[in-house]
Amino acid sequence: MKQERYDLVILGAGSTAFAAAIRAQELRKTAVMTEGWTLGGTCVNRGCLPSKNLIEAAKLVYDAAHPRYPGLAPAFVQIDFPRLVAQKDEIIHDYRDQHYASLVNEADEAGQQPMQVVFGHAALVDPHTVEVQSSAGSSRRLAGDHILVATGSSPLVPDIPGLAETPYLTSDLLTSQEEQELKELPRSLMIIGGGYIALELGQMFARLGSEVTILERATRILKDYEPEISLALTDLLREEGVRVLTQARVQEVSGDTDVVHASVSVHGKPQDLQAEKLLVATSRRPNTAKLGLERAGVRLDRQGAVMVDAYLRTSVPHIWAAGDVIGHETESQMATPVGAHDGGIAAENALAGTKRCVDHSVIPRTIFTDPQVAVVGLTDEEATARGIVCECNTIPMSVVPRAGAIRDTRGVVKMVLERGSRRVLGISMLGVNAGEVIHEAAMALRFGATANDFIDLIHVYPTMAEALKIAAISFTKDVNRLSCCAS
Ligand SMILES: Cc1cc2nc3c(=O)[nH]c(=O)nc-3n(C[C@H](O)[C@H](O)[C@H](O)COP(=O)(O)OP(=O)(O)OC[C@H]3O[C@@H](n4cnc5c(N)ncnc54)[C@H](O)[C@@H]3O)c2cc1C
Repeated sequence: MKQERYDLVILGAGSTAFAAAIRAQELRKTAVMTEGWTLGGTCVNRGCLPSKNLIEAAKLVYDAAHPRYPGLAPAFVQIDFPRLVAQKDEIIHDYRDQHYASLVNEADEAGQQPMQVVFGHAALVDPHTVEVQSSAGSSRRLAGDHILVATGSSPLVPDIPGLAETPYLTSDLLTSQEEQELKELPRSLMIIGGGYIALELGQMFARLGSEVTILERATRILKDYEPEISLALTDLLREEGVRVLTQARVQEVSGDTDVVHASVSVHGKPQDLQAEKLLVATSRRPNTAKLGLERAGVRLDRQGAVMVDAYLRTSVPHIWAAGDVIGHETESQMATPVGAHDGGIAAENALAGTKRCVDHSVIPRTIFTDPQVAVVGLTDEEATARGIVCECNTIPMSVVPRAGAIRDTRGVVKMVLERGSRRVLGISMLGVNAGEVIHEAAMALRFGATANDFIDLIHVYPTMAEALKIAAISFTKDVNRLSCCAS
């Protein structure tokens, strides 16, 4: 078999892989990506883009039916679900063409190598060689001075009796033209899991008209977030009609394409639940199986993620890894901007010999429920576990002038400070535009800001960003007794 040689062979062609390939091109090195499914990976095809598209549509429907202002009458928006799905598919295709497909085979400037993708399942056959087997049965061998593993993650399916024989959806349900795509709005939807995907999709389907039940095994949804956020969001979802059951352990499931039954222990009491569709959204696991990593001696952690150091180098010096496939190694998060940032760093370290370290200490995150949850830095519990003596305050959004002005006071802000220095260690918010506001907090954490820096920065009035300033003031003053903009 003919063997092709590259400076960098990349397993995967998602957002992490593309960022690495772009950097290789900028460095005028040869790189090739490999893709076993759809060009562009999870984010554009079945993750961020389609979910945020439909979440906004569901918000339009909900807001029309629930105007916050006396004097505005509720309006009923009719839903054509197949048309909504079709426009979502158009968005996916346009975005994929524009931001992924159009880059392939292109060399921007003289001297740059064109970006290449080889389609098929890729696996290492030795430490420097990747074999790609196409679905038609042909194979190609790609030899690389360096290899980058950027194969992403897949839905983790828990071991529940009966699940293997029962039809179920996964977090891949919003994909376009792939077999797991959901094309009809379910009358009722049972969701196993209480993490961000379960909550975003659960609220979205409920707003579009499905009867939604969320089953969370732990004592609260979003169990790794601040409890104040979890509890406030639970209340909001319940007020909207989403059934949220905590301490709900699914013992067994059964059913067919029309109805799914689940035997669930809720707070220790047995309950039989049923819904038209079942969505399993328990978690995602790194795609490290069947990659031949063991043949090259690449080590995995206990969650099956590729172990890397701060330069994103694996246990084999010329093999690198980035994106979802490294899981929580080096305190990383599974999110598109993290993988895209790190893909570029890995390529640069591999091909230019730079020694750039990744810094995962400040990664702002948003859950696109309505209102949004946005967090950065440490929670109270995480700071305490690290032996940091901290002080924390939580304020309701009702003290933020903009929230009152626009009649949407849902949510809270919690700030975690290091006691003494008053350095801000973490911020968690639930509120309107929290996903935008969190960037101020992230930049502040990046530069080691204190609560006083938030207070001294003049904020635009009235904005939701003032929530951060007011949270900082709340450590020393009663924020219910402040005039506009006073600190
Ligand atoms: C429903 C949902 C909503 C999300 N929303 C957001 C959001 O709002 N914001 C955000 O930042 N993140 C979001 N995410 C997470 C985000 O999509 C991922 O973190 C990101 O796409 C990971 O990029 P990646 O390049 O590391 O992996 P991927 O995009 O998964 O790419 C890896 C690619 O490798 C391919 N591959 C795997 N194994 C092989 C093999 N052996 N041979 C060849 N190819 C292979 C896969 O087919 C895939 O295309 C969401 C995810 C989901 C599921």
